[in-house]
Amino acid sequence: MPGFNEAFEIRKYPLPREIEPRAALVKVEMAGVCGTDVHLWKGQLPIPRPIILGHETVGVIEKLGEGLHTDWSGKPLRVGDRITWSAGMRCGHCHFCTVFRLPTRCLNRSAYGISFTSDEAPHFSGGYAEFIYLRPGTAIFGVSDVATEAVIGAGCALVTAIHGVERMGISFGDSVVIQGSGPVGLAALAIAKSSGAAKTIVIGGPAARLELSKAFGADHTIDINEFPNAAVRLEMVREHTAGYGADAVIECVGSPEVVSEGFEMCRDGGKYLVLGHYGDAGSAPINPHVITRKQLTVYGSWASEPRHMGHAIEFLRKQGERFPFGQLVSHRFPLDAAFEALQTTSKWASSKSVVVP
Ligand SMILES: [Zn+2]
Ligand SMILES: [Zn+2]
Repeated sequence: MPGFNEAFEIRKYPLPREIEPRAALVKVEMAGVCGTDVHLWKGQLPIPRPIILGHETVGVIEKLGEGLHTDWSGKPLRVGDRITWSAGMRCGHCHFCTVFRLPTRCLNRSAYGISFTSDEAPHFSGGYAEFIYLRPGTAIFGVSDVATEAVIGAGCALVTAIHGVERMGISFGDSVVIQGSGPVGLAALAIAKSSGAAKTIVIGGPAARLELSKAFGADHTIDINEFPNAAVRLEMVREHTAGYGADAVIECVGSPEVVSEGFEMCRDGGKYLVLGHYGDAGSAPINPHVITRKQLTVYGSWASEPRHMGHAIEFLRKQGERFPFGQLVSHRFPLDAAFEALQTTSKWASSKSVVVP
């Protein structure tokens, strides 16, 4: 991506001649296009340009640096292994890493596909490329026993949902509303259900995405195209929750205006998680009185930690049949059509576009 709102170009860079200790050179097998990539392309976060986007990636180890013998979970790593990795990296030294224990807010945080310009060595720091160079300290996970489509279909949405639900907490028997039926919404649905939610209601669209929500076990779906009136949607949620509203509402849309609607959908004493706003999509009016009157608890959750990726891989291993994330992968593009892949995601025309170099 040469610049914001510009078409992608194919560029060539020299592969690193030497692999640092504990680093790895990886041949990319598949890279997911995330909604965040669209926000990055639109310039909603300050990132360097030119850049190779792509922070959801599966690849095969081409070269291993000295000292890198095991993945993050302690399993052996060898050349030829299929792996994925945590896109975000922390420094381990700053106040957030050491004192506040909030590594997602590390002052020196960086992420593949987001933080590094391709003009500087080692050049290959994003998924939309034939190779990627994994820097020392990257949290790598072997995925030889998990389908690539499942890992990419789950993408950063699953780790995001695991982190968010961990922060908010879902109790056994909870009713949960999920605003949004994209990858983050589906992942939140899967994690809410497996955390004990007794009733789940997904609000979103288009219809094909709601069908996927049903395949993932949503008890009710509300199509925003069929019910464009927010008051009607609120009434439907109340009907499904004995008139009270939901115990928990999870925002997975990324549009600011849905937040006030979501507050109204919470029951008194309920909780609300803002999960879909990794990009800054601007502001929208909210009525703070609703938070006071309903005694709401509002949570935020930013990105994820390596342990969430570990949980996600294990989740796909154990619950892959119940939650078929691989089915999300709907559109495949070769590397020279990566821009089309982004446009398809931008227009919500795919459940998940992927780049296959
Ligand atoms: Zn993402
Ligand atoms: Zn730090």
